[in-house]
Amino acid sequence: MSTHSHIQEIIQDVYEKYKDIDEGEVATYIPELAKANPDHFGIAMVTVDGQVCSAGDCEQEFTIQSICKPFAFQMALEEFGRDRTLEHVGVEPSGDAFNSIELEPKTMRPYNAMINAGAIAIASLIKKDTRESGVEEFVDKMARAAGRPLRIDEFVYASEDATGNRNRAIAYLMLNCGIIDAEVEHSLHQYFSQCSLLVTAQDLAMMAATLANMGMNPVTQERVFDFNYIKDTLTVMFTCGLYDHAGEWAYRVGLPAKSGVGGGLIAVVNRQLGIAVYSPRLDAKGNSVRGILACKELASHLGLHAFEFTNVGSSFMQWLGT
Ligand code: GLN
Repeated sequence: MSTHSHIQEIIQDVYEKYKDIDEGEVATYIPELAKANPDHFGIAMVTVDGQVCSAGDCEQEFTIQSICKPFAFQMALEEFGRDRTLEHVGVEPSGDAFNSIELEPKTMRPYNAMINAGAIAIASLIKKDTRESGVEEFVDKMARAAGRPLRIDEFVYASEDATGNRNRAIAYLMLNCGIIDAEVEHSLHQYFSQCSLLVTAQDLAMMAATLANMGMNPVTQERVFDFNYIKDTLTVMFTCGLYDHAGEWAYRVGLPAKSGVGGGLIAVVNRQLGIAVYSPRLDAKGNSVRGILACKELASHLGLHAFEFTNVGSSFMQWLGT
């Protein structure tokens, strides 16, 4: 059996194992997200040499939500460098919920760029003179990472904007503390638009694989991200990507990852591959229930944990036959 079909079989098995799990609830606090079909479930994996394996609803579009955050952080680092970016956001896990209203007491920065406060501070940095051009730049970069044209879901955007007063409160708190500039609605437009980007599990796996592949899309071979900053992004994903579940995740799965309330979850195996799962039923912390189960299973089955003793630089290579 070829390596590709062996991995395909493993992914299919994981899909079958969890497809009937119906724990968790679809997010409803953004009303438009409540329309998601809770049964949808897809798993996709893309290797750095461009092999794609998938099972289930991998071509179903949904909004990226918080999975935009590591990519926006990467864009801020590329545009402003480390020092300037880190004046606006820290790199410390908060241990609190994604939408908590809190800043680091000494610096008044948001704890990290993976929670809403940090992501809004980053959106404020990377927005452009016009609302359209800032969003366009983000969408274009994500499209190059996914390897196909992408677009914003205007209904989800409108729903976020209409109900996003908690995010508005966080933004005004940061304006008060001098972390963001006075263009608060402009920054929120950038942030809500980023969250409303439509993607599939396959797109997300390709985007994760682009991070794993030092910034180069493994299929189009286009250089999308500056590899000098990928380690920054992956580190913050590793320590903060699953909010108040981040420690448990690092312990059990051991991979840089990011979840979103749309039901997406990505994990990156550095220099090897990207994984994405779509399943919109969330646990109480806003993470995809089947997303977590599927990633845990894949990580243990394929020996992907960063500190797995069999992961000699890469136990996955054994599956690739190299
Ligand atoms: N747009 C969502 C919000 O700001 C993103 C949250 C998430 O995916 N965890 O609340």
